[in-house]
Amino acid sequence: MIILFLIVGEYMFPQVDKYVAARNNMVKIQITDRGITNVATLRAMKKVPRHLFVSKEYENDAYGDYPLPIGYGQTISQPYIVAYMTEIVRPTEKKKALEIGTGSGYQAAVLAEIVDTVYTIEIIPELARESSARFKKLGYNNIIGKAGGGYNGWPEHAPFDIIVVTAAANEIPKPLIDQLAENGRLVIPVGEPGAIQELMLLVKKNGKIEKERLTFVRFVPFRRSKS
Ligand code: SAH
Repeated sequence: MIILFLIVGEYMFPQVDKYVAARNNMVKIQITDRGITNVATLRAMKKVPRHLFVSKEYENDAYGDYPLPIGYGQTISQPYIVAYMTEIVRPTEKKKALEIGTGSGYQAAVLAEIVDTVYTIEIIPELARESSARFKKLGYNNIIGKAGGGYNGWPEHAPFDIIVVTAAANEIPKPLIDQLAENGRLVIPVGEPGAIQELMLLVKKNGKIEKERLTFVRFVPFRRSKS
């Protein structure tokens, strides 16, 4: 009976990927055990196939406790940092999010599992193109990406309940603060590119910005451009 069930089970639910155990293990050891408790964040981290956001050569490393190269000198953040940044912006299903620095698209996908819509901007055209193809392939219809500089945000879709910046800037771009909705939350690494930066949280309350220093991080530089 049990054997029959196992056979039928295997037949009915073919394994979507061979990394399910690695992913659950990542969430337990790297994320839950380090204090992330937001249920939606944990669910999203368990679901998004991180190994499909890196090249084949790094697939086996995708659930490791470190960032990985994604080409063009850029990196996909360590899983814990993605979970931390996701939890801190308090994602819920009706919210609209903006991400600056699409990269592989992994952070956008984690947010897209929870919120209504994710707008994401990437300055390196090749990465913008690759991540858009990935969103399409994986069925993330609620992610809208574009190639370009993110300094000026995306005014046509503002205001945003959530803004996540995944590249380190010396200053917090003012247009992003302006595009934050009331009670909106913006998380951004602030500091010298190439050095250790401080992850900051900005919350808009009654039109005023409250700032909080969270932790130290190391991100690739935020590039300035006119677009
Ligand atoms: N969130 C990404 C991490 C990418 S690393 C992920 O989950 O994979 C940061 C990305 O920000 C890089 O791809 C870099 O090209 C991009 N970036 C840097 N400056 C930018 C800017 N001004 N506007 C948009 N993207 C930028």
